[in-house]
Amino acid sequence: MYKRVLLKLSGEALQGKEKNFDPLVLKNLAKQVKEIHDLGVQVAIVVGGGNFIRGKTVAEIGIDRVQGDYMGMLATIINALAIQSALEREGVVTRVQTSIEMPKVAEPFIQRRAVHHLEKGIVVIFGGGTGSPFFSTDTTAALRASEISADVILMAKNGVDGVYSADPKKDPNAVKYDHLTYMDLLNQGLQVMDSTATSMCMDNDIELLVFNMNEDGSIVKAVQGTVQGTVINKNSD
Ligand code: UDP
Repeated sequence: MYKRVLLKLSGEALQGKEKNFDPLVLKNLAKQVKEIHDLGVQVAIVVGGGNFIRGKTVAEIGIDRVQGDYMGMLATIINALAIQSALEREGVVTRVQTSIEMPKVAEPFIQRRAVHHLEKGIVVIFGGGTGSPFFSTDTTAALRASEISADVILMAKNGVDGVYSADPKKDPNAVKYDHLTYMDLLNQGLQVMDSTATSMCMDNDIELLVFNMNEDGSIVKAVQGTVQGTVINKNSD
């Protein structure tokens, strides 16, 4: 079992059947985070913002890309606050730390303080991405996981239970991988996360576990090593 995990949630993973976020999805997420927290696992969370806005998408309708990226980063802070509220309703003590300072709603990101919170059993939610445009929240997850020395990034996907050779929804011959290296991802162009995030995980020797967030109890199973997902690391064995 892992001691310190970084859970990466995409914005879409919070959506469920609703437009922005689904209270039932948030509740289920909070219950699972509480369960792993009660097992003694230190939990940090990085959340995306794709359920509201993505810089690249709004650039297509004429919004400046950098502005759009800041809008996306603000969206991740909205999600971080929603997750905080859901966790606190389950009785879990949390802190939100943002990379874009917003002192009225959250703490600024301070690495040493984040680690201190985790050591005290406080769940830390990182909002605001890296704080810089042209990056993604997958890269944020790689960066924060390195900064807090997480044992693993738990990458909760929305409806896909791991990494496949092709899109399993379109190609019936798609094969699921149990294990891959970061070099495999880069060489084969497998769509797990962007290449900046992949390189950062590879260079900092971070393990990644990709699994389906929609499977019952999957976050708990991921921590216990019993989830059916794909493990990605530096080693080929
Ligand atoms: N973003 C950014 N810098 C970062 C993280 C995010 O500019 O460090 C912006 C970017 O526009 C991105 C949006 O925030 O599209 C939402 O993040 P992401 O697409 O990673 O969210 P997810 O797909 O995980 O929901």
